[in-house]
Amino acid sequence: MSAGGSVVKKATSVRPDRASPAPAVPQKKERYAPAVIEPKWQERWARDRLYETPDSDPDRPNFYFVTMFPYPSGDLHVGHWYAMTPSDTAARFLRMRGHNVLFPMGFDAFGLNAENAAIKTGVHPSDNTERNMANMRRQFRLMGMTIDWRREVVTCHADYYRWNQWLFLRLFERGLAYRAKAPVNWCPKDQTALANEQVINGLCERCDTPVTKKDLVQWFFKITEYADELLRFDGLDWPERVRVMQTNWIGRSEGAQIAFDVDGSDEKIRFFTTRPDTIFGAMFMVLAPEHPLVAGITTPERREAVEAYVAAARQATDIERTATDREKTGVDTGAFALNAFTGERIPVWIADYVLATYGTGAIMAVPAHDERDFAFASKHGLEIREVISPDGTEHDRPAEAYTGTGVMVRSGRFTGLSSDEGKRAVTEEAERRHIGAAAVTYRLRDWLISRQRYWGTPIPIVHCPKCGPVPVPEDQLPVELPYDVEFTPDGGSPLARKRDFIETTCPKCSGTAERDADTMDTFVDSSWYMYRYPDPKDSQHFMNTDVARKWLPVTRYTGGIEHAILHLLYARFVCKALADMDELWFREPFTHLRNQGTIVFRGRKMSKSRGNVEAPDAYVAQYGSDTLRLFMGFMGPWTAGADWDASGIEGVFRFLHRVWDVALTPAGDGPRDVELDGAVQRAIGKVTTDLEQYHFNTAISALMELSRDLMHASGPSRDDGVRTLLLLLAPLAPHITEELWHRRGGATSIHLERWPEFDAAKAARRRVTIVVQVDGRVRDRIEAPVGLEQEAVEALALASERVRAALDGRKPVSFIVVPDRLVNVVTK
Ligand SMILES: [Zn+2]
Ligand SMILES: [Zn+2]
Repeated sequence: MSAGGSVVKKATSVRPDRASPAPAVPQKKERYAPAVIEPKWQERWARDRLYETPDSDPDRPNFYFVTMFPYPSGDLHVGHWYAMTPSDTAARFLRMRGHNVLFPMGFDAFGLNAENAAIKTGVHPSDNTERNMANMRRQFRLMGMTIDWRREVVTCHADYYRWNQWLFLRLFERGLAYRAKAPVNWCPKDQTALANEQVINGLCERCDTPVTKKDLVQWFFKITEYADELLRFDGLDWPERVRVMQTNWIGRSEGAQIAFDVDGSDEKIRFFTTRPDTIFGAMFMVLAPEHPLVAGITTPERREAVEAYVAAARQATDIERTATDREKTGVDTGAFALNAFTGERIPVWIADYVLATYGTGAIMAVPAHDERDFAFASKHGLEIREVISPDGTEHDRPAEAYTGTGVMVRSGRFTGLSSDEGKRAVTEEAERRHIGAAAVTYRLRDWLISRQRYWGTPIPIVHCPKCGPVPVPEDQLPVELPYDVEFTPDGGSPLARKRDFIETTCPKCSGTAERDADTMDTFVDSSWYMYRYPDPKDSQHFMNTDVARKWLPVTRYTGGIEHAILHLLYARFVCKALADMDELWFREPFTHLRNQGTIVFRGRKMSKSRGNVEAPDAYVAQYGSDTLRLFMGFMGPWTAGADWDASGIEGVFRFLHRVWDVALTPAGDGPRDVELDGAVQRAIGKVTTDLEQYHFNTAISALMELSRDLMHASGPSRDDGVRTLLLLLAPLAPHITEELWHRRGGATSIHLERWPEFDAAKAARRRVTIVVQVDGRVRDRIEAPVGLEQEAVEALALASERVRAALDGRKPVSFIVVPDRLVNVVTK
């Protein structure tokens, strides 16, 4: 309450007395005190169950609005407010527009963040998470959110994660979950494997540590099975940027897979190329140091150098290896391959810029037409031969790589073909000779889901020495995560140390067997949570289809741009897989998507793990939630993000004081004010379109302007205008508008009201103000009807007393007229 006191004091100092029409009998006016009214309404809304959405409403079509759920990191920081409150505003707006809006919330509660916090604090992740969630629910209430808490989803609770296990088993049944040994991305700090999508520019997505490689047997989900379908975004209202990012991530390329013989050996080197038309310029081959052929083909005299290079390459991260400015190191294996098109013997090198995990781990190097190959050949003195010419004529040794298309030269019987014809012809030739075929490759790899950490969903598999990996029967789910586990990471799976969990019997042969000791990537949990919200308590199925049919697919989805690839790609994959199992009746989970930009604070994205968060609670205490909500929307275009700078919050706070005063000052008598009625209508039009497009900042500007117009008006137009102002402001600032609505005689909640109808005829501007200049200097402003002809504007300008004085007898030479805005009288 002490904080509330300071708010009241502050209000007095920032708000000078207004010259608005005074009431007949002077009264001591009550100040706007958010610390008093906000908790009051939060309590009342909860008591009235205002935000408990029915599954159907005869008068309102259903609208399922989901915003990405948070990790229960302990506190909702300003970044959360930026993600959540504008989404809440959008949901409230849609409700007033006549939709039955479901706006649920939950917690993405498993995962490294919670586990690392637990290690730091010494509190068990389960206890820590429960405590954090309790605090965050309180903060959500403080924000004035429209959340239907009956539908809360918590992913670390067994009644949720048993359905993760069910999903795993269903994918396993269909061959979409499989186990394989592979060199995987390893975060040395978090001591766990990571999916490719969790390696951002070579760094761990969570802790920014450079990622290394480790050979492990891991579970994968076969997302590549859906690569082509994931490239299609038909019917989706998604930002172009996200579609492009996913498309690039999937990285489909067309070309040919071809094999060259290794000279003097039965081995073949298989490679993929998008440019078969350059094959006559393949002067050497490069294998990844990890390529399985390396040991076998290396000549005895090169063995020592090759082994040393392979060992060194394993120390480097992929980001180091593929950096464009990195020196192109490599060593010669001493072996030769035979270029099947030129018949030449070409040397086989190994170099770390070729990664074993991409394509076949081998390339034909065409130095004249590839920048990296050019740099490599130049450094190591290898031959460079032009085989594609932009103009069809042969050139001498090129000074740089030409990577464009053109005409094939120095290419035997293919010489003279265009690149496009050449690609086809070379591929056909390779097919005829049974050394290759047309092929498509993807950059996308299968989704590695095993984690060597404790705080996650146990993988529902039993490893039997006789039967191999055996699924846990569905009626034995959930496989519960044991509470009492030593979970400090040491590179192994913590669950492996919990013998009474690990040791079990094989469901198939009843022999002694062991449970899988890894847990699932938490992105599995978040890949399907939106199906659980409609009925999170259903114990029979992962989703209550009867209820879910009323809501799904998600009508609108909002969340951070950082999930453009990770979460959003996984969720699309799981949706398609579930649809193929007849569990879903749609193939895309989110029809409409918008991403808010990032809040940058002290030069970096605001995030608890980076330690640069700004806590909202002090701002709430000083200014109230409504001010902070408005400020979040006012910082700039929501999709662009913003630098956190709280200095503008005072201005927003003053605006709410003005709304308070305008709404509680009697309107007084007077005639209808057509001008004001028009301004009110224009505000309706502007705020409606802006909120439809998440343009919160310009909507708030329009409301600020309207509040100023109302301040100076009186009579019935002002009274109606105030009512409209409150309705338009209600989704953005739910508490103050509710309070004022009731003080002005409203009997039910403003949040149950319908959105004001826009009347285009009334909105039309009848008069405009035209700025009049003489030789570029402003001399007067005149009122004129809208759309006045040029001659009439000129006449009006010359009729002005002030213009005549400024002219002082000089004759105008010409006029510059900007219709409805400006006229400049030019004399020289
Ligand atoms: Zn990490
Ligand atoms: Zn068995």
